[in-house]
Amino acid sequence: MNPFSTLGIRHDIVNAITELGFENPTPIQEQAIPVLLSGSNDFVGLAQTGTGKTASFGLPLLELLDFEENYPQALILCPTRELCLQIASDIKNYAKNMKNVNVVAVYGGANISDQLRQIKRGVQIVVATPGRMLDIINRKAIDFSQVQYVVLDEADEMLNMGFQEDIDSILSTTPDDKKTWLFSATMPSEVRRIAKKYMTDPFELTMGTKNTGNVNIEHEYYIVKARDKYAAFKRIVDFNPEIFGIVFCRTKIETQEIAESLMKDGYNADALHGDLSQQQRDKVMKRYRDRSLQLLIATDVAARGIDVNDVTHVINYSLPDEIENYTHRSGRTGRAGKTGISIAIINSKELGKIRHIERTIGKQFTKAEIPSGFDVCEKQLFAMIHKVHNVEVNEEQIEQYIPRIMDEFKDMDKETIIKRFASLEFNRFLEYYSKSPDLNISGDDRGFERGDRPERGDRAFRSSTSPGYTRLFMNLGSVDDFTRGDMLGFICNNTKISGKSVGKIDLKGVFTFFEVEESAVNQVIEGFKSVDFQGRDVRIELAGDREGGGGDRGGSYRGGGGGYRGGSGGGRREGGGGGYRGGSGGGRREGGREGGSGGGFRDFSGKRREDRAGSANAGSGGRREGGSGERRRRN
Ligand code: AMP
Repeated sequence: MNPFSTLGIRHDIVNAITELGFENPTPIQEQAIPVLLSGSNDFVGLAQTGTGKTASFGLPLLELLDFEENYPQALILCPTRELCLQIASDIKNYAKNMKNVNVVAVYGGANISDQLRQIKRGVQIVVATPGRMLDIINRKAIDFSQVQYVVLDEADEMLNMGFQEDIDSILSTTPDDKKTWLFSATMPSEVRRIAKKYMTDPFELTMGTKNTGNVNIEHEYYIVKARDKYAAFKRIVDFNPEIFGIVFCRTKIETQEIAESLMKDGYNADALHGDLSQQQRDKVMKRYRDRSLQLLIATDVAARGIDVNDVTHVINYSLPDEIENYTHRSGRTGRAGKTGISIAIINSKELGKIRHIERTIGKQFTKAEIPSGFDVCEKQLFAMIHKVHNVEVNEEQIEQYIPRIMDEFKDMDKETIIKRFASLEFNRFLEYYSKSPDLNISGDDRGFERGDRPERGDRAFRSSTSPGYTRLFMNLGSVDDFTRGDMLGFICNNTKISGKSVGKIDLKGVFTFFEVEESAVNQVIEGFKSVDFQGRDVRIELAGDREGGGGDRGGSYRGGGGGYRGGSGGGRREGGGGGYRGGSGGGRREGGREGGSGGGFRDFSGKRREDRAGSANAGSGGRREGGSGERRRRN
């Protein structure tokens, strides 16, 4: 008998989850399901994401609700759109063999009319982010007077994100005698307080000890000098050829910079942060889920609710300001019983922070050594050999070429051929890493330098600004379908400066550096205040030293033609000669914005934010999703 049946789950649900690969309940499911199935308790579950908590509340809801009726009986609140969609989809999957189960996902950044329509049609389970839920309640478009169960999922995150008041307002529309089930990865005092406020004598379940990280996660730190951070990071990545990781940065700008540098260096990486439109974020997440991306560079906020299995590494490129965020970050790996590694790349001054995290999560970090260049070469070589060993051969297609290939090799023995194949990749690594320095420093080395390498901020590393000009940063770039000409027009039209005042325009993936005459700087900064581009605020900053973030990108071995990454994720294919963005941009075009719709229009004019005033969320959501129809080309 399937152990889920023993827990009290009916046959058709057990069949559905068995198909999903749920053979045995996870610890939280084992303990929570029988309690929640009774339907008579408030409940607090302290559990990390990835422990199977969705099923621990989702399965009991499917048992407890009356699906012959079509009014809202359960409300699940969660912090992010991604999580909201995930929960709704999971519950639908569990209910695959049941009749008349209606689940609706309600979240911001998408067309509200569709959501209203679904609600109107009848729904028993509403999964929602608080902001959009409140909007719908305020429109009097939903009746929660018969809700029996409220689930607050990732309660700590919702509070972190400032949803306390929204949650209060939403819950005030639900009956007093409903049961509330709260799940949280951590239990700060704010969560305790809401548990107290909304619950009577809840059943409490703690998986692991309070705030403890997942036991499947190993924690490591590397100490490097600040200037070597990027190089060290790349080396760690190179040493783990099969890495499928999330890299956390502290700021949007750092996130952009690291992603951009990685892309330039030929990695399958992209950024996820709050300056991206929802549509862009969805695209990045889709590519990550599909594994076209190997590395997702993210801010804490943007990564909330990311629910991707099999993440092998979480890399803290910068440690979070809030220690609790470390738990959230590392919880993105080691999910569903898998093991994972959480890495922190720190400078020696940050050791204290590591000790603090250790005390908080109750686990020790291992001090790891940045691999030497030689170690990386060796690791990559054998990863490649392993791939050759396991590659699937398309007999039918290759057959026709075999005689010619054999002919080419006829004067070589097996060993020579193998050596040559191996050298194809190995030489590239050797060349890149031949003079690579040791990047490790010991904990008590305070970072004094012998100084044979320039600082990142040194002139040699900066792209020089033309005399009389100031270099500015803008948070839009080629992914937003700008060409240099478009960008010039965009700048001039919004700031009313002459094109002659604009110098070099350095169009990057998700941002742009551009020069303007010193006398025009204020006009540009002022001119872009309150301009938005497709629903996003346009941000202009002095470029200053921001460009110092890169590492040893120059002369990367990845630059040349078909880098070794080709085999691993397909990302290289996207890359082609001009860097991976080129490919992705092309993809977008094919995707229909400009392509299919017959001379689709592009609007590079930006919009004054005041223009949007009064336009409902739906408007801007619609605009984002609307595709080409609403774009106008400017001349
Ligand atoms: P969750 O914590 O609910 O986000 O679940 C994390 C991942 O574990 C999801 O991909 C689930 O599909 C998977 N999962 C949940 N419960 C089980 C189970 N009993 N057996 C196998 N996988 C599971």
